[in-house]
Amino acid sequence: MKVYLDYNATTPLDERVIEAMKDAMQRYPANPSSLHSQGQEARIAIENARRILADSINAEPDEIIFTGSGTESDNLAIHGALRAYKKKGNHLIVSKIEHPAVYNTAKALKDYGFDVDFVGVDSEGRVIIDELKSLIKDTTVIVSIMHANNEIGTIQDLKSIVELCHSKGVLVHTDAVQSYGKIKIDVKDLGVDFLSTSAHKIYGPKGIGMLYKKNGVAILPVIHGGHHEKGLRPGTYATHNIIGFSEAVKITMNEMEEENKRLSSMITYLREGIKNRISHIKINSPQKNVLPNTLNVSIEFVEGESLLLELDMKGIALSTGSACASGSLEPSHVLLAIGVPVEIAHGSLRISIGKYTRKEDIDYFLEELPKVVERLRKMSPLYNQ
Ligand code: PLP
Repeated sequence: MKVYLDYNATTPLDERVIEAMKDAMQRYPANPSSLHSQGQEARIAIENARRILADSINAEPDEIIFTGSGTESDNLAIHGALRAYKKKGNHLIVSKIEHPAVYNTAKALKDYGFDVDFVGVDSEGRVIIDELKSLIKDTTVIVSIMHANNEIGTIQDLKSIVELCHSKGVLVHTDAVQSYGKIKIDVKDLGVDFLSTSAHKIYGPKGIGMLYKKNGVAILPVIHGGHHEKGLRPGTYATHNIIGFSEAVKITMNEMEEENKRLSSMITYLREGIKNRISHIKINSPQKNVLPNTLNVSIEFVEGESLLLELDMKGIALSTGSACASGSLEPSHVLLAIGVPVEIAHGSLRISIGKYTRKEDIDYFLEELPKVVERLRKMSPLYNQ
């Protein structure tokens, strides 16, 4: 049996997206920037896709910039704003639980001489607003706080963060790569200046992302080239990816409400199932204001990597932290930031489900996990004490 429980790493393509992409590849071979009618047909398709993406977050079409990934959107917003507002200062604040796309961008900027602060979070992963307030200074250009965390699922109170930052004249970027398509997003209501998303987390293609940039705020490009996307993100349009993205958005937004109810109840079933079957565990995901599909759990006296490999042999795919962190034996910076002790953080699993997950998948996982844990614990001198 093959069970996929790693939807936060990426999602499989929806069949309807594949069809839309195949059709786009055949129908629009021309360069959308070409002035001839074949080019313009492709251009019209891209502008329709842009409108669909804009509508999905209550933005205007000219506030949407196509990029090559969520990572690129994050980089464009942060580097771009720091470049555009150089006269104001060089201070950036990000949270301690950001995805590497933001976290490592901030660390690199610090190495390049920028003034960077990392704001802490509480035990549920929520940004400590008073700490954020105390970090903001006259030179702060931008604050980047993720909408929902990819490892534990915590959703931030972005409206309060935006309110605070705007009252001090500071811009706000949010990495919404994990929340997009899982919870409703309205940029006008949230008030953010920049918001990043990515197609491959919502059953769309890999290699296409989007940055929302509020009209009236500025960025400078990080890639230089032609005039695409008003010169802010040059490079020939990947027509099929853009159309695949918009198809995925249409489908996901339509199905989101119903799907969330199903996912939430499966996560409850999963959480209770783990609690009832395995001792010495710690649930790291909060119960409220959390993504409907994510459950992070630490299992004491076992190594996350060993768990992952043993489960993999049973056909079960999941992560120990963020997929990008796998391959490293460092415990997750997110779990450490919420106060999970290092030795416990080492034995953590991130289970993330999606629209193709069935109850049978969860039952199979709940049957196999205790056996694997028991076998590994038998080898642990600490457990046997
Ligand atoms: N931000 C978050 C919260 C993510 O979960 C991911 C992907 O794991 C990214 C950014 C990066 O997106 P992409 O894979 O499109 O570069």
